[in-house]
Amino acid sequence: MNKYDFDVIILGGGPAGFSAGLYASRANLSAAIIDISMLGGQPSNYLELENYLGFNKIGGYELMEKFENHADVFGVEKFPMQEIISVDLISNPKIIKTKEGEFLGKSVIIATGAKPMKLGVKGEEKFIGRGVSYCAVCDGAFYQDKVVAVVGGGNSAVEEAMYLTRFASKVYIIHRRDELRADKIIQDRAFQNSKIEFIWNSVVEEIQGDEIVKSVIIKNVNNSNFSNISIDGIFPYIGINPNVDFINGQIAQDSRGFILTDNTMKTSLEGVYAIGDVRNTPLRQVITAVSDGAVGAVYASKYVQEQKEVIV
Ligand code: NAP
Repeated sequence: MNKYDFDVIILGGGPAGFSAGLYASRANLSAAIIDISMLGGQPSNYLELENYLGFNKIGGYELMEKFENHADVFGVEKFPMQEIISVDLISNPKIIKTKEGEFLGKSVIIATGAKPMKLGVKGEEKFIGRGVSYCAVCDGAFYQDKVVAVVGGGNSAVEEAMYLTRFASKVYIIHRRDELRADKIIQDRAFQNSKIEFIWNSVVEEIQGDEIVKSVIIKNVNNSNFSNISIDGIFPYIGINPNVDFINGQIAQDSRGFILTDNTMKTSLEGVYAIGDVRNTPLRQVITAVSDGAVGAVYASKYVQEQKEVIV
């Protein structure tokens, strides 16, 4: 098994992780980013962003490539496709074991992001990849001239519904209230899109089909009436859960599992920081993730420096 030793180990190679890697390397520390899959994180799947400062419009994948190239320039080491087996955040140094190696870090920055929440209804698991998808950019093109439904009323649901209108003949947005959570500018665009039909005050009860999805049963939450709508695909966008399975109670988290930090991104453990979507933050955007990365890496660097002075 390969053994590695770094000043700062960053778990997760999305915007927050790249930013932390850049700041740690520029503080003259050795830094590594470990990711369970390819680097880039959630924004790699975003069609385009209009709110990352400096770019009127840029593809998510393109922006993540720029982040990665920038981190490369300053020598951040990258370990993609590493499945974490165990993490000891309490020991000093901290120990991360993956299937391929053991990584020792004077400090650890957790930037593992979040994953889509599931509806938890009958048929959802059964039809994943056969009509149930959590990524419109990945799967939208399969629904040329078909009818699809998006569930949720936040930015993701409404933006992805609009993206799906490029392919689908009709896109239902099923939302549990009669008012969207999405930003006003995004709402206005959706209301003007003739391919989008809103189904208000409704929740999904069951996804049905044979080999592939054929319909969805929804319940009106006001009058408890059920209806069956024919669809070819369904995209739940009802929020996110943090990627924290590996933590095993070693650091403080909120009731939904998001990691608690102070304003230096420090967690409840010395030398351990959390940044981006995985932490209990009021705003989950690329721009706030990179900001978290800068703050976390600066304070992790201070911590590592203090440790080195103690040892000398
Ligand atoms: P979100 O903002 O938390 O919205 C989740 C939506 O799903 C809400 O409308 C919620 O309804 C609904 N919902 C939650 N649980 C549900 C359930 N069990 N059944 C049915 N509906 C349910 O999540 P998101 O849209 O994934 O966005 C996550 C974060 O990323 C947000 O901070 C968002 O602003 C950000 N984001 C930003 C952009 C952008 O700025 N371009 C794009 C994408 C995401 P209620 O409204 O009734 O609570």
